[in-house]
Amino acid sequence: MLSENPEIRTPLKPSPAFLKRLPKTDLHVHLDGSLRLETIIDLARTQNVKLPADTPETLAKAIHMGENCEDLNDYLKAFDVTLAVMQEEKALFRAAYELAEDAASENVRLLEVRYAPTLHTRKGLALTRIVESVLDGLAAARTDHGIRSNVIISGIRHISSDQSLRLAELAVAYKNKGVVGFDLAGAEYDYPAKQHRDAFNLVRNNNVNSTCHAGEAYGPESIRQAIHLCGAHRIGHGTRLREDGDLLNYVNDHRIPLEVCLTSNVQTRAVKDFKTHPLKFYYDFGVRVTINTDNRLITDTTVTTELERAVEHFGFDIYDVRQLVLNGFKSAFLPFHERQVLLRQISTELDDLVTAELHANGSLADVAIRTAKDGSKRRREVPAAQLTAAEEAEPSRITA
Ligand SMILES: [Zn+2]
Repeated sequence: MLSENPEIRTPLKPSPAFLKRLPKTDLHVHLDGSLRLETIIDLARTQNVKLPADTPETLAKAIHMGENCEDLNDYLKAFDVTLAVMQEEKALFRAAYELAEDAASENVRLLEVRYAPTLHTRKGLALTRIVESVLDGLAAARTDHGIRSNVIISGIRHISSDQSLRLAELAVAYKNKGVVGFDLAGAEYDYPAKQHRDAFNLVRNNNVNSTCHAGEAYGPESIRQAIHLCGAHRIGHGTRLREDGDLLNYVNDHRIPLEVCLTSNVQTRAVKDFKTHPLKFYYDFGVRVTINTDNRLITDTTVTTELERAVEHFGFDIYDVRQLVLNGFKSAFLPFHERQVLLRQISTELDDLVTAELHANGSLADVAIRTAKDGSKRRREVPAAQLTAAEEAEPSRITA
């Protein structure tokens, strides 16, 4: 493990290539917000669906891809277009497969895809077929690209609480079959989470994990409801958590992860601009913040891009980025022992990547050999300037 002692820490700005190489997670990504433009056009053609535009460039404009919107509700309009072509099994399989393929191409190792199956029933598909088509698409991508992925079923705030309950029942039925959690998404303002309490109660009584979009388009009261009334284990966004210091401390004390979606927050005007986003404040305060895309298509982003923006706007160095990435793996909805195995593997891999990057940039000029307690020799990487004479003379004095 690389030293986190600030005295021997060599701050280095991570390059985009380094960020892409890192093993990553994307724990907050909507299936219906993450299609490829070409796929939407292709699906519309085969399904005879009329789109507002028929080339990738014009369609991107029509759905305001990557642009700032009026508010969250305005941002959500793009889903009318994507959902129009996601009403058939083949389309759902393809959307899931391609999302996982795109994530794998930037070295996302663990993907938690969320969507609301009830939004895909316009042509009469059964909810079970919808869930299975998506799981099949993800399984095929895992076979082809090795990417691990699971599903979170989302209820929708601005649709009825009855529908949320149906969705919660699906999450319960498919627990241990690829579905790892329940979520509440949709218009936050005017639609409090407490109205969907029955759905959360059902998943909680069945020991299913839950997360909840909160503190994005409404204040800390929304986050309070998500945690205390709905029992959410993670919070989607949590952007406005800083308005309530007491709740902020509660979230921090209980290590409740925040699924931060930086660019999306700027686009939905949850924050004024990148600079005023609370990500760095939360990170410095010790909150378990994770970096996510929200919607790869609509927000026009990737996890690598989100990390690049975090580096650009907040000056995160190579060690901070390592921590942010690790937070993602720590926050995954995986069984504890499975997560521990993954964390050990990822942590070693991250150390090697950080060390290689420091070497490549001339920040690590010397390598000392130290002897571990079991007698085995271990390499120890330290900045040349801080290699002490004692370490050079008597490497065996330094123990693991
Ligand atoms: Zn979201």
